[in-house]
Amino acid sequence: MAEVRSEILRYRNHKQRVILFLAAMRHFRDDLREHGFNVVYQEFDDNAAFDDLPSAIRQAITDHSPDSLLMLEPGNQALEEQVIGVAEEAGLECTVLDDDHFFCTRSEFADWAEGRSGLVMEHFYRMMRRKTGYLMDGDQPAGDEWNYDADNRESFGKNGPGEIEPPPETSDEVTGSVSAAVDEHLPDLPGHAEPFRWPVTPSGAKEALARFVDHHLPSFGPTQDAMWSARPYLHHSLLSSSINLKLLSPREAIEAAIGAYERGDAPIQSVEGFVRQLLGWREFMRGIYWLNATDMGSANFFDAAEKLPDFFWSGQTEMACLKDVVTQLKETAYAHHIQRLMVAGLFNLLYGTDPKEVHDWFMAFYVDSVEWVTLPNTVGMSQFADGGNVATKPYIASGKYINRMSNYCADCRFKPDEASGGDSCPFTTLYWDFIRRHESYLNSNGRTRLQVRNYDRKSGGEKAAITRRANEVREMVKEGNL
Ligand SMILES: Cc1cc2nc3c(=O)[nH]c(=O)nc-3n(C[C@H](O)[C@H](O)[C@H](O)COP(=O)(O)OP(=O)(O)OC[C@H]3O[C@@H](n4cnc5c(N)ncnc54)[C@H](O)[C@@H]3O)c2cc1C
Ligand code: SF4
Repeated sequence: MAEVRSEILRYRNHKQRVILFLAAMRHFRDDLREHGFNVVYQEFDDNAAFDDLPSAIRQAITDHSPDSLLMLEPGNQALEEQVIGVAEEAGLECTVLDDDHFFCTRSEFADWAEGRSGLVMEHFYRMMRRKTGYLMDGDQPAGDEWNYDADNRESFGKNGPGEIEPPPETSDEVTGSVSAAVDEHLPDLPGHAEPFRWPVTPSGAKEALARFVDHHLPSFGPTQDAMWSARPYLHHSLLSSSINLKLLSPREAIEAAIGAYERGDAPIQSVEGFVRQLLGWREFMRGIYWLNATDMGSANFFDAAEKLPDFFWSGQTEMACLKDVVTQLKETAYAHHIQRLMVAGLFNLLYGTDPKEVHDWFMAFYVDSVEWVTLPNTVGMSQFADGGNVATKPYIASGKYINRMSNYCADCRFKPDEASGGDSCPFTTLYWDFIRRHESYLNSNGRTRLQVRNYDRKSGGEKAAITRRANEVREMVKEGNL
C-alpha cells in the first residue's frame, strides 16, 4: 500500500478528503497486520521513495517476485490501465476482480445497456429491484409504487428544520497523526482540517449507519431536496464516503433501511428514496462511467469555456446560496445532493464554466469523491456535457427553485423573481440567458421545450434587458465583484 503524492495532489484536495483517505488506509493496514498479513506500506512524508503507484508496484514486483497480480477494480480507468501496463512490462498476468461493493458487475451493466437507444435510470433501477428482491412483494413493488419521488420534494417551510445534532468528531490516534502530517507537509491545501466527523473504520461506518436509521431515515425522504443555511447535514445519511471507501457495504445500508420499514419505524417514501439512491443512482452512475469513461472526461456538449469562478474556492460572493454552500464545504468537505446539483452545479452550467474545471473542483472539495462517481455526476448529470447519456435533460432552473427549497434568498441582496436590473438574481438572469443561448437544442428536447416557450413569451424589451444584465453578471464574476 502506498500513499503517493501524485494521487494526493492530483486535485487541489480539501484537507479533510486527504485525511479521510489516508486515515482509512492506515487503519486498514493495521487491521491487516493484526490479522497476520505482511503489508508493505509507504507513508507520504519527505522520505517517501515513490511518487506514483506504478513505481511502488514495480518495486514490489522486484522485491517479491509474484506469480501474477490480482487487482480489485479500481476507482478510475487510468489507474486500471496503469497497473495492467506494469503487469505487462513484468510479463505477469493481471486479473481484475469484480468489486462486490456493487450489486451489478461491469459486464452485467454492459449487457443491460447493449442495444438500448437511451439509458434511463428508472428502467435500470426496476431491473435491479427485481434482481435483488429489495422492496418487492412477489413481482410487485412494496407499497404498490416503484418510485416515491413525488412525495419527496418538501421544503422546511418557514420554521426550518429545527435543531439537528451533527455527527460526533472522529478522535483516534491514527486520524490525529495523519492530520498532523497533512498540517506539516501540505499546509496549503484548501479547507479546514477540523472538526473532522468522517468514519475511518468499518466500526465507525456502522455507527454512522445506525445513527442515520435511528434518527434521520424517517425524515430523509420528504426533505431530501430541501436546504437550510448553516445546516450542512440535515437528514442525509452522510454515508457516501464510507461506502465509496468500502468501510460499509451498500447491502448493509440498504438492508438496515428496509429493516426499519418492515418494523414500521420508517415510511416507504423515505426507505424507497434511500434504496433508489444506492441501488439505482449509484449503480447506474458506475455502469455509465465504465461504459464511457474515455469520452466523458473531455465531453463538452454546450462548448462551455469559462474558468471556474474564484468564489468556488473562497466562498466570497454576495450570492447567499453559493456563499453558504462553499462556506459549508470549507468547514465540512460535504454538501448534499441538491446543494451540489441545484446550487454549485447549476451556477456553473448557467454561467458556462468548462466542465473539466467543474469536475476538478468537485473532485477536490468533497469528502466522497472518486472518479467513477464524480465524473458522471458532474459532467453528465450536472453539466449535461455528455449530451444526455446520464440525464434526459439539462437540470436548469432559476433562482425561484432555490427560493422554494431553502431559506437562502431571505438573506440575499438579490431577488429570485427578478431577471434583469441591479437587484436581479444572477441564477434567474443566467437561466433565461442560457435558454436564449441554447434555444435550438432545448427546443428539440421534449422535456425542456416548455421552458423555451416561456422565454419566447417575454417581450423584446424584457429579453434585451436580460441579455444586457447577463453580460454584466459575467463581467462581475470575472472581476470578482459578484
Ligand atoms: C455534481 C454532483 C457531484 C457528485 N459527486 C459525488 C461524489 O463525488 N461522490 C459521491 O459518492 N456522490 C456524488 N454525488 C451524488 C450525491 O450527491 C452524493 O452521493 C450524496 O450527496 C452523498 O451524501 P449522503 O451520503 O449524505 O447521501 P444521501 O443523500 O443520504 O444518499 C444516500 C446514498 O445514495 C448514494 N447516492 C445518492 N445519489 C447518488 C448519485 N447521484 N450518484 C451516486 N450515488 C448516489 C450515495 O452513496 C449516498 O450515500 C454527486 C452529485 C452531484 C449532483
Ligand atoms: S436570490 Fe438568487 S443568488 Fe440570492 S440566494 Fe436566492 S437564488 Fe441565490
